[in-house]
Amino acid sequence: MLYVDGKWVEADQLSVHPEDRGYNFGDGIYEVVRIYKGKMYQWEGHLTRLLRSAREIKLDMPWTAEELSRIADELMARNNITSEDDATLYLQVTRGVAPRVHDIPSGIRPVIMGFVRRKERPLADMKKGMTAKVIEDIRWLRCDIKTLNLLGAVLVKQYAKEAGAQESILHRNGTVTECSAANLFMVKDNELYTHPANHLILNGITRLDVIELAKANGFTVHEEPFTVDFMMQADEVFGTGTTVEVMPIISIDGQPVGGGSVGPVVQKLQQLFEERITRSVTV
Ligand SMILES: *Cc1c(COP(=O)(O)O)cnc(C)c1O
Repeated sequence: MLYVDGKWVEADQLSVHPEDRGYNFGDGIYEVVRIYKGKMYQWEGHLTRLLRSAREIKLDMPWTAEELSRIADELMARNNITSEDDATLYLQVTRGVAPRVHDIPSGIRPVIMGFVRRKERPLADMKKGMTAKVIEDIRWLRCDIKTLNLLGAVLVKQYAKEAGAQESILHRNGTVTECSAANLFMVKDNELYTHPANHLILNGITRLDVIELAKANGFTVHEEPFTVDFMMQADEVFGTGTTVEVMPIISIDGQPVGGGSVGPVVQKLQQLFEERITRSVTV
């Protein structure tokens, strides 16, 4: 059961208006929220970011934070998500329906859509690690907004896949930014490096979790730009995101990272993240 523009519907009863600006332009925003054991993880953070994304694209959200929370809760309830289930919640808001022009029509009413899907955690890959390929970051210059306009992300992920890698690591003029749908960290001499949260990356909630956990456990974290060359000398590399969690990257462009297996720092951070999830489920 989905929630679409104020109604509860099944996917096959749905039609998209041909002039919904989400459909025509990717003019809208979204969030993907993790549900662990029937409970949303970091909902407040996702909600705050959704409202920020809306402001940044000049979209007036007609829903209060309370209304959005109620929609999320009801999506879980109507889809029988219980304390047995791991799942994800997808929530998007498009600008709405209006005759097709580029500038923003006045008086337009945003359209909300949400669904919940059961989804296992990627435990096998988290243990084994992934392969990645370095690809030019061809996305736009407002990567800090979680927008529906994802063609850049679609293409870089596809280039990586066609090159036989599982993940894409993006760079702009030799500076590493992030992955197609995850943030990127590297470890050198027990210190962490990740791109600063500016317009060139999406400031992930998992990224912020990992920075906080790392600092609280005595690691130095450098939020500063670094080059592809520096990354190729890393001891460890990993991605972070709501669905990939803390994901080791064990080979880049066919070259092993560090020893070519999952390293001790990423294992420590996975353990700390696991403990945080467990705490959030039990409180
Ligand atoms: C959503 C996303 C992330 C990860 O953010 P989380 O809040 O940790 O899920 C990273 N990069 C991009 C481009 C994203 O869209």
